Amino acid sequence: VKCIGILTSGGDAPGMNAAIRAVTRAAIYNGLQVKGIYRGYKGLVTGEIKEFKSQNVSNIIQLGGTILKTARCKEFTTPEGRQLAYDNMKKEGIDALVVIGGDGSLTGARIFAQEFDIPCIGLPGTIDNDLYGTDTTIGYDTALNTILDAVDKIRDTATSHERLFFVEVMGRDAGFLALNGAIASGAEAAIIPEFSTEVDQLEEFIKNGFRKSKNSSIVLVAESELTGGAMHYAERVKNEYPQYDVRVTILGHLQRGGSPTAHDRILASRLGAAAIDAIMEDQRNVMIGIEHDEIVYVPFSKAIKNDKPIKRDLVTVLKELSI
Ligand code: ATP
Repeated sequence: VKCIGILTSGGDAPGMNAAIRAVTRAAIYNGLQVKGIYRGYKGLVTGEIKEFKSQNVSNIIQLGGTILKTARCKEFTTPEGRQLAYDNMKKEGIDALVVIGGDGSLTGARIFAQEFDIPCIGLPGTIDNDLYGTDTTIGYDTALNTILDAVDKIRDTATSHERLFFVEVMGRDAGFLALNGAIASGAEAAIIPEFSTEVDQLEEFIKNGFRKSKNSSIVLVAESELTGGAMHYAERVKNEYPQYDVRVTILGHLQRGGSPTAHDRILASRLGAAAIDAIMEDQRNVMIGIEHDEIVYVPFSKAIKNDKPIKRDLVTVLKELSI
């Protein structure tokens, strides 16, 4: 491998810039040429590609978003689109690809690597923390801290007015942001997709003592279709328990922005450097993850296909501490 291409794809996440910087600098350090591909797979299909030197990634470690931009690209999901992408790679002399993104982006990388003989290395870049084989993903810690900041503020007004707040957080079909956000913010409960078919989480919350000893309550709800979202629960409470003063806050896209935390910057730097190590070791078609503070190579098939389990003891902790 002489030249690598790097792109960010799917939903953006704080720390993607730190990862771009790490991959670029580690590659140059190891004597490789680097090309930045703009707007995810779209830039690969249309040839929006530019050589990256060390200075191109100066002064970005602290920035949210991604300087490479990101996009969702329909064309890349077709064989014709991927052929165009491959042709552009060859034209640019790119012989390995580093993809920073979530499960969709890594699925694309996996299919692309199977069709053409190109080493693809993935970095887990998503606030959702929903990739299997890594303890955490780039952006997750920052999003979690953003949620805490918001919930702390909501708590002030919830207490003053003695209200029940349903706060909707992101996470797709994973409840990591909702559950850990609830523990860290001292919320009374979390409604998460992992348990949507097991129990009526709202009934449990009401039964477990809502308002027995409190003058406000905050419940974090994961945005997933499996939970139905915060509005759904607010409506239910309004119908079934009209005595409660219920409000809804949907945190939305503010969860994706902001300067990455120290944790996300260090994670992105380590994973980015490890992506280049993997390429130098002739690894291919793996996601770089971190487990017990050690770098691990996770085959794409494993990272994408498996549902990442959420720790049950977290649910117990939340329940015990919200009495
Ligand atoms: P996030 O989880 O943060 O939203 P993501 O990476 O899962 O990020 P997606 O929109 O699912 O985001 O995927 C990003 C891009 O990856 C798609 O727009 C598409 O170009 C490519 N992609 C996704 N699935 C496939 C697939 N099955 N085949 C080829 N390309 C795919």
